Amino acid sequence: MSKSPANYRPETRLVHSGTLRSQYGETSEALFLTQGYVYNSAEECEARFKGEDPGFIYSRYSNPTIAMFERRMIELEGAEAARSAATGMAAVTTAILAPLKAGDHVVASRALFGSCLYVIQDLLPRYGIETTLVDGLDLDQWQRALRPNTKTFFLESPTNPTLDVLDIPGIAEIAHKRGARLVVDNVFATPIWQSPLALGADVVVYSATKHIDGQGRCLGGIILASEAFIAEHIHNFMRQTGPSISPFNAWVLLKGLETLGVRVRAQTDTAARIADVLASHPKISRLVYPGRADHPQAALVTKQMRGGSTLVGFEVKGGKAAAFRVLNELKLAKISNNLGDAKSLVTHPATTTHQRLKPEDRATLGISEGFIRFSAGLEHADDLIEDLTAALEKA
Ligand SMILES: *Cc1c(COP(=O)(O)O)cnc(C)c1O
Repeated sequence: MSKSPANYRPETRLVHSGTLRSQYGETSEALFLTQGYVYNSAEECEARFKGEDPGFIYSRYSNPTIAMFERRMIELEGAEAARSAATGMAAVTTAILAPLKAGDHVVASRALFGSCLYVIQDLLPRYGIETTLVDGLDLDQWQRALRPNTKTFFLESPTNPTLDVLDIPGIAEIAHKRGARLVVDNVFATPIWQSPLALGADVVVYSATKHIDGQGRCLGGIILASEAFIAEHIHNFMRQTGPSISPFNAWVLLKGLETLGVRVRAQTDTAARIADVLASHPKISRLVYPGRADHPQAALVTKQMRGGSTLVGFEVKGGKAAAFRVLNELKLAKISNNLGDAKSLVTHPATTTHQRLKPEDRATLGISEGFIRFSAGLEHADDLIEDLTAALEKA
C-alpha cells in the first residue's frame, strides 16, 4: 500500500494531499467549474440526499475542487475537518458566529484585523452576544474577562500590524478551564510557521487571500477544526447560508499551496534581512520582527513558532509626513493594504487598515503615525534593501 500523504512532511503534503484524479488521469488537479451534479437514477439521487451515497449534491455544499483544497489544508494543518469560504472574513465570521446564540459572551484580543474587530465590537452585540476586548499579551486580562457564559476566545498572532506574539497555549488553557473554545486567526504566521491546533487552539481560520494564494489573484478563506466542531456548528450553517468559495478560486488556492512552503521561506528570509538592516538605521526609532532576539516576546516566538515572519514593522522618525515620504519614494515595494504577496507591499496602518480606530486606541496598540508595515515579496532581497534605504534617505 502506498504511504498516506498525511504521513509525509509538510512540503510533500502541500504538493500531493487531497488530489482526486478523474478518469482521465490528469497530472494537475482538475477544475470542476460546475454548480451541480447529475444522477444515474432517481434512486441514486435519493440516496445522495439521504447521505447514504457520499457523492456531491450542489456546489454551495461542496465540489471536487473545493474538497481537494480542504483536504490539502486539513493534512497540512493537522485538523480533522475543514470548510472553505468565499473570503477570510466569511471564514472568521462563520467560525465565531455560527456556534453562538444571544446571551453568550466572547473575549478577544484588542489587536485585531479591522474587519475582525468590527465583527467582535459592532456585529455580535447587535445580536445579543456580549463581547470583551483585552490586551492579548496579558494573561490576567483573559482570566479576568471570563464569565459563566463565555463561549469563545478569539485572537490573532502575530498581531496586525505590530507583530506582537500572544501565548496560544497559555490562553487556550484559560479558555478550556471554563469550557470555552479558542479560535485563532493564523494569517500572519501561516501554516508553515505555526500550528495553533497543536498548541491547544480549537479552531483555526485563514484568509487564504494572503500567503495561500500569495500571488494577488483571488479571495478565499477556510475554517479548520475537529470533525465534531465542524459537524455540530459549521456544516449546516455554511450549507444553508451560503458563504461558499467559488471552485475556480479554490483551484487557484489549491495550486498556490504547492508553492506555499518555498514562497513563505524565501519571503521570511528576505524579511529577516530587511529587519537586520533597518534595526540599526538612523532614521528608524522602532523595529519589530518576530525571529530577532530583540522582539518583545522573543522567548514565546521560539516556543510556539517554527520561523519568523514575512512581515516587518518599523517606525520612521518624523511621524506621518516622514512615513508618507518613505512610501512615496519606494520604487519597487508597492503601496497596498494587502500582504503575503509575491510583490513586496507596504502599508501605513494609521491611515488605512486601522484608521477607523480612535487615536487613543491606536496609541494603546502601538500604531503610531510613523509606523509602517512591510510585507516582503519574492524579489531579490538586495533590490528591496536598496529600495528601502534609498527611500529612507529622503524621509
Ligand atoms: C486579510 C485578513 C483577514 C480577512 O481576509 P479577507 O480574505 O480579506 O476577507 C482576516 N484576518 C487577517 C489577519 C487578515 O490579514
